[in-house]
Amino acid sequence: MRRVRAFFGGIHPKENKESTNSTPIQVLSAPEVVVVPLLQHAGREAKPLVAKGDEVLKGQPIAEADGRISARVHAPVSGKVAAIEPRPSASGRELTCIVIENDGQERWVERQTHPDPVQLDAQSILERIEEAGIVGMGGAGFPTAPKLTPPKGVIIDYLLLNGCECEPYLTADHRLMVEYPEEIILGAKLMAKACGARRIIIGVEDNKPDAIAALREKAGNIEVVALPTRYPQGGEKQLIQALTGREVPSRGLPFQVGCIVQNVGTAWAVAKAVRDGEPLISRVVTVTGSAVAEPKNFLVPVGTGFQAVIEAAGGFSQTPGKVVAGGPMTGGAQFGLDVPVTKVTGGILCFGVDESKTPDSQPCIKCARCVDVCPANLLPLKLEAYGMNEQWDNAREYGALDCIECGCCTYICPSKRPLLHYIRFAKAEIIARERQSS
Ligand code: SF4
Ligand code: SF4
Repeated sequence: MRRVRAFFGGIHPKENKESTNSTPIQVLSAPEVVVVPLLQHAGREAKPLVAKGDEVLKGQPIAEADGRISARVHAPVSGKVAAIEPRPSASGRELTCIVIENDGQERWVERQTHPDPVQLDAQSILERIEEAGIVGMGGAGFPTAPKLTPPKGVIIDYLLLNGCECEPYLTADHRLMVEYPEEIILGAKLMAKACGARRIIIGVEDNKPDAIAALREKAGNIEVVALPTRYPQGGEKQLIQALTGREVPSRGLPFQVGCIVQNVGTAWAVAKAVRDGEPLISRVVTVTGSAVAEPKNFLVPVGTGFQAVIEAAGGFSQTPGKVVAGGPMTGGAQFGLDVPVTKVTGGILCFGVDESKTPDSQPCIKCARCVDVCPANLLPLKLEAYGMNEQWDNAREYGALDCIECGCCTYICPSKRPLLHYIRFAKAEIIARERQSS
Protein backbone atom coordinates (compact mmCIF):
# COMPACT_ATOMS: atom_id res chain seq x y z
CA MET A 1 0.00 0.00 0.00
CA ARG A 2 1.24 3.49 -0.90
CA ARG A 3 2.60 5.54 2.00
CA VAL A 4 0.77 8.87 2.20
CA ARG A 5 2.84 11.82 3.46
CA ALA A 6 1.14 14.55 5.44
CA PHE A 7 1.61 18.06 4.09
CA PHE A 8 2.53 20.94 6.36
CA GLY A 9 -0.25 23.08 7.84
CA GLY A 10 -3.86 22.95 6.72
CA ILE A 11 -7.21 23.15 8.47
CA HIS A 12 -10.40 21.17 9.06
CA PRO A 13 -13.28 23.47 8.11
CA LYS A 14 -16.81 22.12 8.51
CA GLU A 15 -17.49 20.15 5.33
CA ASN A 16 -21.14 21.07 4.69
CA LYS A 17 -21.35 18.61 1.80
CA GLU A 18 -24.23 16.47 3.09
CA SER A 19 -26.96 18.41 1.21
CA THR A 20 -25.59 17.40 -2.21
CA ASN A 21 -23.02 14.60 -1.92
CA SER A 22 -25.67 11.92 -2.48
CA THR A 23 -27.65 13.91 -5.03
CA PRO A 24 -27.27 12.54 -8.59
CA ILE A 25 -26.24 14.97 -11.30
CA GLN A 26 -29.24 16.43 -13.15
CA VAL A 27 -28.90 17.64 -16.71
CA LEU A 28 -30.02 21.26 -17.00
CA SER A 29 -31.51 22.36 -20.33
CA ALA A 30 -29.86 25.30 -22.02
CA PRO A 31 -31.66 28.64 -21.60
CA GLU A 32 -33.08 30.69 -24.47
CA VAL A 33 -29.95 32.81 -24.56
CA VAL A 34 -26.41 31.76 -23.62
CA VAL A 35 -23.62 34.23 -22.87
CA VAL A 36 -20.24 32.68 -23.61
CA PRO A 37 -17.12 34.54 -22.44
CA LEU A 38 -14.01 34.47 -24.63
CA LEU A 39 -11.89 34.19 -21.49
CA GLN A 40 -12.80 31.15 -19.41
CA HIS A 41 -9.24 30.04 -18.80
CA ALA A 42 -5.81 31.20 -17.66
CA GLY A 43 -3.90 33.04 -20.39
CA ARG A 44 -5.08 35.07 -23.35
CA GLU A 45 -8.66 35.68 -24.41
CA ALA A 46 -9.78 33.59 -27.41
CA LYS A 47 -10.38 35.35 -30.77
CA PRO A 48 -13.92 35.23 -32.21
CA LEU A 49 -14.49 33.12 -35.33
CA VAL A 50 -18.11 34.25 -35.79
CA ALA A 51 -19.92 37.57 -36.21
CA LYS A 52 -23.28 38.95 -35.16
CA GLY A 53 -26.03 37.31 -37.20
CA ASP A 54 -24.14 34.06 -37.91
CA GLU A 55 -25.93 30.75 -37.47
CA VAL A 56 -23.99 28.30 -35.29
CA LEU A 57 -24.26 24.60 -34.54
CA LYS A 58 -23.90 23.07 -31.09
CA GLY A 59 -20.24 22.20 -30.51
CA GLN A 60 -19.02 24.47 -33.33
CA PRO A 61 -15.83 26.45 -32.55
CA ILE A 62 -16.85 30.10 -32.10
CA ALA A 63 -13.51 31.46 -30.90
CA GLU A 64 -9.95 30.35 -31.55
CA ALA A 65 -7.10 30.10 -29.03
CA ASP A 66 -4.82 33.13 -29.17
CA GLY A 67 -1.35 31.70 -28.63
CA ARG A 68 -0.14 28.71 -26.65
CA ILE A 69 -1.70 29.63 -23.30
CA SER A 70 -5.27 30.14 -24.43
CA ALA A 71 -8.20 27.88 -25.28
CA ARG A 72 -10.76 27.41 -28.03
CA VAL A 73 -14.40 28.21 -27.21
CA HIS A 74 -17.42 26.36 -28.68
CA ALA A 75 -21.13 27.03 -29.03
CA PRO A 76 -23.04 25.28 -26.22
CA VAL A 77 -26.27 25.43 -28.26
CA SER A 78 -27.34 25.76 -31.88
CA GLY A 79 -28.82 29.10 -32.87
CA LYS A 80 -27.88 32.61 -33.93
CA VAL A 81 -25.18 34.97 -32.70
CA ALA A 82 -27.10 37.93 -31.29
CA ALA A 83 -24.14 40.00 -30.12
CA ILE A 84 -20.44 40.03 -29.33
CA GLU A 85 -20.05 42.50 -26.50
CA PRO A 86 -18.74 43.04 -22.95
CA ARG A 87 -20.85 41.42 -20.25
CA PRO A 88 -20.35 40.97 -16.47
CA SER A 89 -18.53 37.80 -15.44
CA ALA A 90 -18.05 35.84 -12.23
CA SER A 91 -14.46 37.13 -12.08
CA GLY A 92 -15.86 40.60 -11.27
CA ARG A 93 -14.62 42.01 -14.59
CA GLU A 94 -16.56 42.65 -17.77
CA LEU A 95 -15.46 40.18 -20.44
CA THR A 96 -16.15 40.03 -24.15
CA CYS A 97 -18.88 37.44 -24.66
CA ILE A 98 -20.54 35.80 -27.63
CA VAL A 99 -24.29 35.93 -27.02
CA ILE A 100 -26.23 33.15 -28.79
CA GLU A 101 -29.99 32.89 -29.17
CA ASN A 102 -30.78 29.20 -28.66
CA ASP A 103 -33.00 27.77 -31.43
CA GLY A 104 -33.84 24.84 -29.13
CA GLN A 105 -33.06 22.34 -31.89
CA GLU A 106 -29.79 20.91 -30.51
CA ARG A 107 -28.31 20.73 -34.02
CA TRP A 108 -24.81 19.34 -33.44
CA VAL A 109 -21.73 19.98 -35.52
CA GLU A 110 -20.28 16.76 -36.97
CA ARG A 111 -18.50 14.86 -34.18
CA GLN A 112 -15.39 12.77 -34.69
CA THR A 113 -15.74 9.74 -32.40
CA HIS A 114 -13.18 7.06 -31.63
CA PRO A 115 -14.30 3.70 -30.21
CA ASP A 116 -10.89 2.83 -28.76
CA PRO A 117 -9.12 6.15 -28.18
CA VAL A 118 -6.21 4.75 -26.13
CA GLN A 119 -4.92 3.38 -29.46
CA LEU A 120 -4.35 6.97 -30.68
CA ASP A 121 -0.80 8.28 -30.54
CA ALA A 122 0.21 11.01 -28.07
CA GLN A 123 0.14 13.80 -30.64
CA SER A 124 -3.36 12.92 -31.86
CA ILE A 125 -4.65 12.88 -28.26
CA LEU A 126 -3.07 16.27 -27.57
CA GLU A 127 -4.59 17.71 -30.74
CA ARG A 128 -8.05 16.49 -29.80
CA ILE A 129 -7.72 17.93 -26.29
CA GLU A 130 -6.66 21.27 -27.74
CA GLU A 131 -9.41 21.28 -30.37
CA ALA A 132 -12.00 20.55 -27.67
CA GLY A 133 -10.97 23.66 -25.69
CA ILE A 134 -10.27 21.70 -22.52
CA VAL A 135 -8.93 23.60 -19.52
CA GLY A 136 -8.29 22.60 -15.90
CA MET A 137 -11.73 22.23 -14.35
CA GLY A 138 -10.57 22.40 -10.75
CA GLY A 139 -10.87 26.18 -10.82
CA ALA A 140 -7.59 27.56 -12.17
CA GLY A 141 -8.53 26.92 -15.80
CA PHE A 142 -5.02 26.41 -17.15
CA PRO A 143 -5.31 25.08 -20.73
CA THR A 144 -4.85 21.31 -20.60
CA ALA A 145 -2.89 20.63 -23.81
CA PRO A 146 0.10 22.90 -22.93
CA LYS A 147 0.07 21.58 -19.36
CA LEU A 148 0.49 18.07 -20.79
CA THR A 149 3.43 19.25 -22.90
CA PRO A 150 6.41 19.81 -20.58
CA PRO A 151 9.66 21.25 -21.96
CA LYS A 152 11.75 18.97 -24.19
CA GLY A 153 13.87 16.47 -22.29
CA VAL A 154 11.68 16.50 -19.14
CA ILE A 155 10.55 13.02 -18.10
CA ILE A 156 7.16 12.76 -16.43
CA ASP A 157 7.01 9.93 -13.90
CA TYR A 158 3.52 10.55 -12.57
CA LEU A 159 0.22 11.79 -13.84
CA LEU A 160 -1.68 12.59 -10.64
CA LEU A 161 -5.45 13.00 -10.73
CA ASN A 162 -6.91 15.28 -8.13
CA GLY A 163 -10.17 13.91 -6.77
CA CYS A 164 -9.86 15.59 -3.38
CA GLU A 165 -12.46 18.34 -3.80
CA CYS A 166 -11.28 19.59 -0.44
CA GLU A 167 -13.27 22.85 -0.39
CA PRO A 168 -16.37 22.75 1.82
CA TYR A 169 -19.81 22.57 0.15
CA LEU A 170 -18.60 21.45 -3.31
CA THR A 171 -19.63 17.98 -4.50
CA ALA A 172 -19.41 18.28 -8.30
CA ASP A 173 -16.22 16.20 -8.56
CA HIS A 174 -17.52 13.76 -5.98
CA ARG A 175 -20.62 13.02 -8.04
CA LEU A 176 -18.59 12.78 -11.26
CA MET A 177 -16.37 10.12 -9.64
CA VAL A 178 -19.40 8.16 -8.42
CA GLU A 179 -21.35 8.42 -11.68
CA TYR A 180 -18.66 8.54 -14.37
CA PRO A 181 -15.68 6.51 -13.10
CA GLU A 182 -15.15 4.86 -16.49
CA GLU A 183 -14.74 8.22 -18.23
CA ILE A 184 -12.39 9.50 -15.51
CA ILE A 185 -10.17 6.42 -15.79
CA LEU A 186 -10.18 6.68 -19.60
CA GLY A 187 -9.35 10.39 -19.44
CA ALA A 188 -6.46 9.64 -17.07
CA LYS A 189 -5.06 7.01 -19.44
CA LEU A 190 -5.33 9.37 -22.40
CA MET A 191 -3.61 12.21 -20.56
CA ALA A 192 -0.86 9.89 -19.30
CA LYS A 193 -0.24 8.77 -22.88
CA ALA A 194 -0.24 12.37 -24.10
CA CYS A 195 2.43 13.48 -21.62
CA GLY A 196 4.38 10.21 -21.48
CA ALA A 197 3.72 9.64 -17.76
CA ARG A 198 4.90 6.25 -16.56
CA ARG A 199 2.34 5.90 -13.79
CA ILE A 200 -1.08 7.24 -12.83
CA ILE A 201 -2.25 7.81 -9.25
CA ILE A 202 -5.66 9.18 -8.29
CA GLY A 203 -5.89 10.90 -4.90
CA VAL A 204 -9.32 11.15 -3.25
CA GLU A 205 -10.07 12.40 0.27
CA ASP A 206 -11.31 9.66 2.57
CA ASN A 207 -14.63 11.44 3.16
CA LYS A 208 -15.75 10.07 -0.26
CA PRO A 209 -15.69 6.28 0.20
CA ASP A 210 -18.31 5.73 -2.54
CA ALA A 211 -16.17 7.65 -5.05
CA ILE A 212 -13.06 5.67 -4.06
CA ALA A 213 -14.97 2.39 -4.48
CA ALA A 214 -16.42 3.41 -7.85
CA LEU A 215 -13.02 4.41 -9.23
CA ARG A 216 -11.28 1.30 -7.88
CA GLU A 217 -13.82 -0.91 -9.60
CA LYS A 218 -12.79 0.52 -12.99
CA ALA A 219 -9.16 1.39 -12.25
CA GLY A 220 -7.31 -1.76 -13.39
CA ASN A 221 -3.66 -1.16 -12.56
CA ILE A 222 -4.18 2.53 -11.72
CA GLU A 223 -3.74 3.31 -8.02
CA VAL A 224 -6.63 5.06 -6.26
CA VAL A 225 -5.32 6.40 -2.96
CA ALA A 226 -7.51 7.51 -0.04
CA LEU A 227 -6.04 10.68 1.48
CA PRO A 228 -6.78 12.22 4.89
CA THR A 229 -9.52 14.84 4.70
CA ARG A 230 -7.72 18.06 5.34
CA TYR A 231 -7.90 21.38 3.48
CA PRO A 232 -6.07 22.13 1.09
CA GLN A 233 -5.27 18.48 0.32
CA GLY A 234 -6.13 19.18 -3.33
CA GLY A 235 -3.52 21.92 -3.76
CA GLU A 236 -1.08 20.80 -6.47
CA LYS A 237 1.99 20.94 -4.29
CA GLN A 238 0.20 19.30 -1.36
CA LEU A 239 -1.12 16.48 -3.55
CA ILE A 240 2.30 15.81 -5.06
CA GLN A 241 3.86 15.70 -1.61
CA ALA A 242 1.14 13.39 -0.26
CA LEU A 243 1.24 10.93 -3.16
CA THR A 244 4.91 10.91 -4.19
CA GLY A 245 6.87 12.47 -1.33
CA ARG A 246 8.36 14.97 -3.81
CA GLU A 247 8.49 18.68 -3.06
CA VAL A 248 7.97 21.29 -5.78
CA PRO A 249 10.59 24.04 -5.29
CA SER A 250 9.66 27.63 -4.45
CA ARG A 251 8.09 29.26 -7.54
CA GLY A 252 8.61 25.96 -9.34
CA LEU A 253 6.18 23.83 -11.34
CA PRO A 254 5.16 20.17 -10.88
CA PHE A 255 7.00 18.97 -14.02
CA GLN A 256 10.27 19.96 -12.31
CA VAL A 257 9.71 17.01 -9.97
CA GLY A 258 8.42 14.72 -12.72
CA CYS A 259 4.71 15.22 -12.03
CA ILE A 260 1.67 16.61 -13.83
CA VAL A 261 -1.53 17.14 -11.86
CA GLN A 262 -4.98 17.20 -13.46
CA ASN A 263 -8.45 17.37 -11.96
CA VAL A 264 -10.90 14.44 -12.22
CA GLY A 265 -13.34 16.77 -13.99
CA THR A 266 -10.70 17.47 -16.61
CA ALA A 267 -10.20 13.72 -17.10
CA TRP A 268 -13.96 13.33 -17.66
CA ALA A 269 -13.88 16.15 -20.23
CA VAL A 270 -10.87 14.62 -22.01
CA ALA A 271 -12.64 11.26 -22.34
CA LYS A 272 -15.73 12.91 -23.81
CA ALA A 273 -13.59 14.92 -26.21
CA VAL A 274 -11.33 12.15 -27.49
CA ARG A 275 -13.81 9.26 -27.43
CA ASP A 276 -17.08 11.04 -28.26
CA GLY A 277 -15.83 14.11 -30.14
CA GLU A 278 -17.60 16.49 -27.72
CA PRO A 279 -15.90 19.78 -26.89
CA LEU A 280 -16.07 21.31 -23.41
CA ILE A 281 -19.47 23.02 -23.49
CA SER A 282 -20.96 21.93 -20.18
CA ARG A 283 -19.78 21.16 -16.67
CA VAL A 284 -21.06 19.94 -13.32
CA VAL A 285 -21.94 22.71 -10.87
CA THR A 286 -22.97 22.31 -7.21
CA VAL A 287 -25.69 24.77 -6.19
CA THR A 288 -25.98 24.87 -2.43
CA GLY A 289 -25.82 26.95 0.75
CA SER A 290 -28.33 27.98 3.39
CA ALA A 291 -30.21 30.29 1.01
CA VAL A 292 -30.89 27.64 -1.70
CA ALA A 293 -34.28 25.90 -1.52
CA GLU A 294 -33.23 22.55 -3.07
CA PRO A 295 -29.44 22.12 -3.21
CA LYS A 296 -28.40 20.10 -6.27
CA ASN A 297 -25.64 19.09 -8.67
CA PHE A 298 -26.37 20.06 -12.26
CA LEU A 299 -24.68 19.42 -15.59
CA VAL A 300 -24.95 22.99 -16.88
CA PRO A 301 -24.34 24.28 -20.43
CA VAL A 302 -21.58 26.89 -20.42
CA GLY A 303 -23.10 30.36 -20.80
CA THR A 304 -26.16 29.68 -18.60
CA GLY A 305 -26.77 32.56 -16.18
CA PHE A 306 -26.42 32.02 -12.41
CA GLN A 307 -30.01 33.19 -11.96
CA ALA A 308 -31.35 30.31 -14.11
CA VAL A 309 -29.21 27.74 -12.30
CA ILE A 310 -30.38 28.94 -8.88
CA GLU A 311 -34.01 28.89 -10.07
CA ALA A 312 -33.55 25.28 -11.21
CA ALA A 313 -32.53 24.52 -7.61
CA GLY A 314 -35.86 25.87 -6.37
CA GLY A 315 -34.69 29.47 -6.07
CA PHE A 316 -33.79 31.21 -2.84
CA SER A 317 -35.24 29.90 0.41
CA GLN A 318 -34.41 33.16 2.19
CA THR A 319 -33.03 36.55 1.25
CA PRO A 320 -29.46 35.92 0.12
CA GLY A 321 -26.68 37.89 1.73
CA LYS A 322 -23.91 36.55 -0.46
CA VAL A 323 -23.58 34.46 -3.64
CA VAL A 324 -20.17 32.93 -4.27
CA ALA A 325 -18.81 31.41 -7.50
CA GLY A 326 -16.64 28.40 -6.56
CA GLY A 327 -15.87 27.22 -3.06
CA PRO A 328 -16.11 29.30 0.13
CA MET A 329 -12.32 29.31 0.66
CA THR A 330 -11.14 30.43 -2.76
CA GLY A 331 -14.29 31.51 -4.62
CA GLY A 332 -15.39 35.05 -5.37
CA ALA A 333 -18.50 36.87 -4.08
CA GLN A 334 -20.76 38.11 -6.87
CA PHE A 335 -22.16 41.58 -7.53
CA GLY A 336 -25.18 40.16 -9.40
CA LEU A 337 -26.70 37.00 -10.85
CA ASP A 338 -26.45 38.03 -14.51
CA VAL A 339 -23.09 36.26 -14.88
CA PRO A 340 -22.65 33.02 -16.85
CA VAL A 341 -21.40 29.60 -15.80
CA THR A 342 -18.04 28.96 -17.46
CA LYS A 343 -15.69 26.00 -17.84
CA VAL A 344 -14.32 26.67 -14.34
CA THR A 345 -17.51 27.24 -12.33
CA GLY A 346 -17.57 24.32 -9.88
CA GLY A 347 -20.13 25.78 -7.50
CA ILE A 348 -22.69 28.48 -6.87
CA LEU A 349 -23.03 28.99 -3.12
CA CYS A 350 -25.81 31.13 -1.69
CA PHE A 351 -25.73 32.20 1.94
CA GLY A 352 -28.30 33.94 4.10
CA VAL A 353 -27.81 37.45 5.40
CA ASP A 354 -26.64 36.39 8.88
CA GLU A 355 -23.95 34.08 7.49
CA SER A 356 -22.71 36.74 5.10
CA LYS A 357 -21.67 39.44 7.53
CA THR A 358 -18.02 40.38 7.34
CA PRO A 359 -16.69 40.52 10.91
CA ASP A 360 -14.83 43.64 12.05
CA SER A 361 -11.13 42.91 12.09
CA GLN A 362 -9.12 43.50 15.25
CA PRO A 363 -5.39 44.15 15.72
CA CYS A 364 -3.07 41.17 15.31
CA ILE A 365 -2.35 39.51 18.66
CA LYS A 366 0.74 37.69 17.30
CA CYS A 367 -0.69 34.28 18.13
CA ALA A 368 1.00 32.70 15.07
CA ARG A 369 -2.00 30.51 14.27
CA CYS A 370 -1.86 31.75 10.67
CA VAL A 371 1.77 30.57 10.51
CA ASP A 372 0.88 27.15 11.91
CA VAL A 373 -1.76 26.47 9.24
CA CYS A 374 0.00 27.93 6.18
CA PRO A 375 0.69 24.98 3.84
CA ALA A 376 3.23 27.07 1.93
CA ASN A 377 5.29 27.62 5.07
CA LEU A 378 4.91 31.40 4.94
CA LEU A 379 4.39 34.12 7.54
CA PRO A 380 0.92 35.39 6.57
CA LEU A 381 0.86 38.10 9.26
CA LYS A 382 4.05 39.62 7.80
CA LEU A 383 2.81 39.34 4.22
CA GLU A 384 -0.45 41.02 5.15
CA ALA A 385 1.43 43.91 6.73
CA TYR A 386 3.69 44.28 3.67
CA GLY A 387 0.69 44.21 1.35
CA MET A 388 -1.19 46.76 3.44
CA ASN A 389 1.84 49.08 3.59
CA GLU A 390 2.73 48.54 -0.09
CA GLN A 391 6.18 47.15 0.73
CA TRP A 392 6.46 45.00 -2.39
CA ASP A 393 10.14 44.08 -2.08
CA ASN A 394 9.62 42.79 1.44
CA ALA A 395 6.53 40.87 0.37
CA ARG A 396 8.51 39.24 -2.46
CA GLU A 397 11.40 38.39 -0.15
CA TYR A 398 9.01 36.76 2.31
CA GLY A 399 7.63 34.51 -0.42
CA ALA A 400 4.33 36.15 -1.35
CA LEU A 401 4.48 34.49 -4.77
CA ASP A 402 4.55 31.05 -3.12
CA CYS A 403 1.15 31.73 -1.53
CA ILE A 404 -1.36 29.29 -3.04
CA GLU A 405 -4.28 31.51 -1.97
CA CYS A 406 -5.88 28.72 0.05
CA GLY A 407 -7.32 31.11 2.66
CA CYS A 408 -6.31 28.94 5.66
CA CYS A 409 -4.70 31.95 7.36
CA THR A 410 -7.81 34.13 7.05
CA TYR A 411 -10.01 31.26 8.21
CA ILE A 412 -8.04 30.59 11.38
CA CYS A 413 -7.23 34.17 12.44
CA PRO A 414 -8.94 34.94 15.79
CA SER A 415 -8.68 38.67 15.04
CA LYS A 416 -10.57 38.16 11.74
CA ARG A 417 -7.88 39.89 9.74
CA PRO A 418 -8.31 39.91 5.92
CA LEU A 419 -4.91 38.31 5.43
CA LEU A 420 -5.46 36.74 2.02
CA HIS A 421 -6.96 39.94 0.65
CA TYR A 422 -3.72 41.87 1.21
CA ILE A 423 -1.52 38.95 0.17
CA ARG A 424 -3.37 38.72 -3.15
CA PHE A 425 -2.95 42.46 -3.54
CA ALA A 426 0.81 42.13 -2.96
CA LYS A 427 1.10 39.20 -5.39
CA ALA A 428 -0.71 41.09 -8.14
CA GLU A 429 1.56 44.13 -7.68
CA ILE A 430 4.75 42.05 -7.64
CA ILE A 431 3.74 40.17 -10.80
CA ALA A 432 2.75 43.41 -12.58
CA ARG A 433 6.11 44.99 -11.68
CA GLU A 434 8.05 41.92 -12.81
CA ARG A 435 6.21 42.01 -16.15
CA GLN A 436 6.98 45.69 -16.59
CA SER A 437 10.68 45.26 -15.95
CA SER A 438 11.10 42.14 -18.17
S1 SF4 B 1 -3.61 34.46 13.21
FE1 SF4 B 1 -4.26 36.59 13.11
S2 SF4 B 1 -3.89 37.39 15.15
FE2 SF4 B 1 -2.76 35.45 15.01
S3 SF4 B 1 -0.70 36.08 14.29
FE3 SF4 B 1 -1.88 35.62 12.48
S4 SF4 B 1 -2.71 37.60 11.86
FE4 SF4 B 1 -2.07 37.82 13.96
S1 SF4 C 1 -0.41 32.80 3.15
FE1 SF4 C 1 -1.34 31.95 1.29
S2 SF4 C 1 -0.73 29.80 1.30
FE2 SF4 C 1 -0.41 30.58 3.39
S3 SF4 C 1 -2.32 30.13 4.47
FE3 SF4 C 1 -2.51 32.19 3.69
S4 SF4 C 1 -3.54 31.95 1.72
FE4 SF4 C 1 -2.75 29.92 2.28
